[in-house]
Amino acid sequence: MEITRVETFALERELDERFANAQKWRDSRSYCLVRVTTADGTTGWGECWGPIAGNREIVEEIVAPWLVGRDVRDVERIHDDLREKLRMGFHTCDPSGVVSAVDTALWDALGKARGESVARLLGARRRDDVRAYATGGFFRDVDGFEEQCDLITDEARAHVDAGFDALKMKVGFARFFPWGPDEDVELVRRVRDAVGDDVTLFVDANWAYDVATAERVGRALADADVRFFEEPVPPQQLDAYERLTASLDVPVAGGECWAYADEFGRVLDRGAVDYVQPDVTSAGGPTSMRRIAAAAADAGVQTHPHVFGTGVALAASLQVLATVPGTPLLEFDRTPNPIRDELVTDPVTNDGDTVAVPDGPGLGVTVDEDVLAEFSR
Ligand code: CA
Repeated sequence: MEITRVETFALERELDERFANAQKWRDSRSYCLVRVTTADGTTGWGECWGPIAGNREIVEEIVAPWLVGRDVRDVERIHDDLREKLRMGFHTCDPSGVVSAVDTALWDALGKARGESVARLLGARRRDDVRAYATGGFFRDVDGFEEQCDLITDEARAHVDAGFDALKMKVGFARFFPWGPDEDVELVRRVRDAVGDDVTLFVDANWAYDVATAERVGRALADADVRFFEEPVPPQQLDAYERLTASLDVPVAGGECWAYADEFGRVLDRGAVDYVQPDVTSAGGPTSMRRIAAAAADAGVQTHPHVFGTGVALAASLQVLATVPGTPLLEFDRTPNPIRDELVTDPVTNDGDTVAVPDGPGLGVTVDEDVLAEFSR
């Protein structure tokens, strides 16, 4: 199964309406995808986390010439060799999104060649469907606090009406709005009132706080029966995570900005979070996701993968989710995103609070070449 070609595809689509989390406004959604082709014409798809610039050049100029001629069946060995090669070149700026996309593409190609899903190849398809929570509640581009709250509570109710019994919302107004942690907490209370006590609520701060503010907000979130407090502080501040996890009643979650089993191992060894959230497009692809989820399970920590990409990332995440020990939840991004919804010919949809795991070969989805061309820039 010799690899004969490695290509990148830069996709972008402007959004009709921009939205923000605590750190950035999003005016568009853009992605760098990777396609690997073997000598017999089998293809596999993967997706890089992060900007197109950088990911695309590294894949085309460094990875492609190195990868052509290698054997897809060596997927785990290639994962480790590629990580080592990029670490030598980029030191701590190791582009884990590139490793992730290549690893995902190789698993997809191997599955297609063997007629088996990636979850089957990983040897642990533990479930046919996964519980999903709706991710939304991003900040809108409006000036009034009441209007902001109304838009977000209306959206939360719409997710419940669509069948979800678990939701994740954002906090951290201060960077872009004239409101602070008190308004963050007020927003959570209003969403809790709007959806009722039976809906599971998660809150994501996207590193909005210092540790003292996170302590104060976290205590209020526990009062609102929030079930995890995601990324309260910046990902490099493991001392702060450890302190918050020890002191707060609300469970602390994090991991979308961490990569590979060794980095997650350091987090787990310190007991720095209650839940880990690796992303298949940035943590090192299915190879690393399996290792991270296994290490977390050994430490008694549930893995709830982070998902915020195209139909390729969503499909890869579902394959991984099928294999994760325990009771993992799918993060089901409900923000408007035509690239997520239209790129694959058999898009992933929810049936109430449940999403089925495809069992077709590879990632179990097919990229629509016409749609690919339409979104390519
Ligand atoms: Ca997040």
